[in-house]
Amino acid sequence: MDNFFSSQIDFILFFYGLAFILLGATCIAIARVRGRNESWIVLALFAFAHGGSEWLDLTALVISDSPVFALFRTAVMTGSFVLLMEFARQEANRFAMKAPGPWLYVPLLSLVVLGGAMDGVNAAGSVARYVLGFLGAVATSAIFCRFAKTFSGTTRYLAICAAVGFALYALAAGLIVLPAPFWPANVVNQNWFSEVSGIPIQLVRGLLACGISFAIWAIWGQQLISEVSSTRYARFLRQQFIWTLAAVTTILVVGWMLTEYLGGIYKQNLQREARGDINLLASRIAGETATIEGTVKILARARSVRALLVRGSEPDDQRAKAVLNLVVDASVANAGFILNGTGTVVASSDQREAAAPDSANYQSAPYFRQSMAGAAGYYFAFDGQNGERDYFASYPIRSDQGAIVGVVVLEKALGNLEADLRQFGRSYFLINPEGIVVLTNRPRLMLHSLWPLSTEQRSVSVRQSGTPTNHPMLEREVLDSTWTNFGGERVYVLRRNANHSQWSLAILTPIREIYASRVLGIVITLLTALMTLIYLFGRERWFHDNVQMRKRLKLQELAQDLRFQATTDPLTGLFNRLRFDEALASEISRSMRYKTPFSLVLYDIDHFKVVNDTHGHQTGDEVLTKLSAFVATNIRGLDTLARWGGEEFAITLPGCVAAMAYQAAEKLRAAIEQVGFHTVGKLTCSFGVAQYRDGDTAAALIARADDALYRAKLNGRNRVELAAPSAAVNPALAAVA
Ligand code: GH3
Ligand code: MG
Ligand code: MG
Repeated sequence: MDNFFSSQIDFILFFYGLAFILLGATCIAIARVRGRNESWIVLALFAFAHGGSEWLDLTALVISDSPVFALFRTAVMTGSFVLLMEFARQEANRFAMKAPGPWLYVPLLSLVVLGGAMDGVNAAGSVARYVLGFLGAVATSAIFCRFAKTFSGTTRYLAICAAVGFALYALAAGLIVLPAPFWPANVVNQNWFSEVSGIPIQLVRGLLACGISFAIWAIWGQQLISEVSSTRYARFLRQQFIWTLAAVTTILVVGWMLTEYLGGIYKQNLQREARGDINLLASRIAGETATIEGTVKILARARSVRALLVRGSEPDDQRAKAVLNLVVDASVANAGFILNGTGTVVASSDQREAAAPDSANYQSAPYFRQSMAGAAGYYFAFDGQNGERDYFASYPIRSDQGAIVGVVVLEKALGNLEADLRQFGRSYFLINPEGIVVLTNRPRLMLHSLWPLSTEQRSVSVRQSGTPTNHPMLEREVLDSTWTNFGGERVYVLRRNANHSQWSLAILTPIREIYASRVLGIVITLLTALMTLIYLFGRERWFHDNVQMRKRLKLQELAQDLRFQATTDPLTGLFNRLRFDEALASEISRSMRYKTPFSLVLYDIDHFKVVNDTHGHQTGDEVLTKLSAFVATNIRGLDTLARWGGEEFAITLPGCVAAMAYQAAEKLRAAIEQVGFHTVGKLTCSFGVAQYRDGDTAAALIARADDALYRAKLNGRNRVELAAPSAAVNPALAAVA
């Protein structure tokens, strides 16, 4: 897998989970808008469970994993896929499509358990993806295709997008599984995918989850728009959609940059630490070899040694050997020997003498050749036969004339050093020029290669040590440093050369904690995203309620207007007969309940036909309007005045007995008489007054008042007539009548 993406896996899991959790929230909102089927709640549960399982994966990465936790995560993921399938099943039933019953889950879950029994949790996860994830997502895709048929316009397009999203998700989440020892998981799996494409499958799944979430969210938006049916709200919601899209993208990008930055600080610290560690290691090794490097120079300049090579007599030989033994002991070397110009051993320390190898070996030894060329030679050697690791230091021996006549070599075994370094805090490797680990505190990697070797290196190492270089741990040779996966663990590998040789040192620093330092960035991103979404959704709700409230107010106004129109006489602005009937009915019921008196007055304009005939209908209207306004200002606030019809009017007088009503009518009559009506001049009205009698209906009361009015007309007009007094009326009042 590409290093960049594999180091971003935590953030990928984070936004993948976030996308599904937002999808869950959207599905719940849809279920509320639609208000009927619980299948959307099931889809919401899928999204929450699946998003949650991604965040659990993230937790495993950041904190730590255990077999129990892995089992739990697999169970949550399997459960989420069951919910996805259940959504498709319920919707299929709703559309009267053929769908299997819930028994379906028994064989499918059995397969998952079987997979787990065969090869553990990962295999169970892979089977769950095949039989539940893939089928569930395909079925859901089909359901969204079916939705598309029932929708129209933008919503149809969005449903198709969601369907395509789920179909691709079926491939990404249902077919690209964890490696498992059965077909096709052993071939087509996450590792295969990242090798082929260079990106982790989680990135693809996360992007698809985002796409699906946005499509379904937009479907919800369309539903809201049609529910509220306000262009203002529709425009707002579309803007809101774009805002949210932009905000979430920005937050994710900035959050990712922050996460990278925080991880970067950790990385720099870790790099610095690793450099310190490898330098410490190099100095430990240098310290171990420094004594023989120093002594070999002194030895090469010793007179007895030079004499041995120049003269080669018996006493020279004895003297040189004595010096050699002394020096070997003093420098804790394992052996020392003197080679002549052809590489043949001419003197050797005691231990070496018994098994002096033939001179040809030394002629080709790199340190011999280096020193014959005039330089100090340093060389780590590994003996494949006995597994010994040694360090050789050599120095040229010069004659008095300065010609190189031979080479002194000191050899030191590295066994002590290895024992010392067993406690070294990091995994370290001493690697020979053929790429084989010859010294390490990870015994399992001893004599293995860390990275693939060239054919030349391999043939040399096979010849030297017979070591097959199986399964290199790294994909390619580390020249300086790299961040990589090592045995399933994220590590930082740092390499430098050891001493002055072609050998090199490498150390591994696990970078598990890097996720912990990146988590702060992820948490900040999450909180910012949530706060922004809460704000944006709150704004949407506020706008939604505002639109609804305005609509209600408008309706109220309209209703008030309708009521006004229904109860008002358009010409005079007085109450109409309908409204007067209501007033009269409530007056009657009040009077019945509280035994308070009230009276009804009817009046009619005298000879109004003449006004119309003489001055025209228009003038007649003006007269009606002016008279109405005049009367309205000459009655009490609690009296109700209404146009009874034509040029006839009615007044209720609450609390008035017949006599008082008579007086009021008389006063009105006299006042009207005085009013001038422009071109028309003076006008008069005739009045009929009736007091409410216990047991009167509205019709009976009106009839009596009308009767009185009729009498007023008969008796010469411009006068008030009182209806026949009721039994309850004070006899004194009869005199007034
Ligand atoms: P009287 O009541 O004194 O017996 O005589 P009158 O002429 O007033 O009575 P009548 O019932 O014969 O005539 C009523 C007239 O009122 C007839 C109609 O043209 C007129 N009228 C009724 N409603 C309106 C109206 O809204 N506008 C106008 N301009 N005239 C109206
Ligand atoms: Mg009239
Ligand atoms: Mg009339």
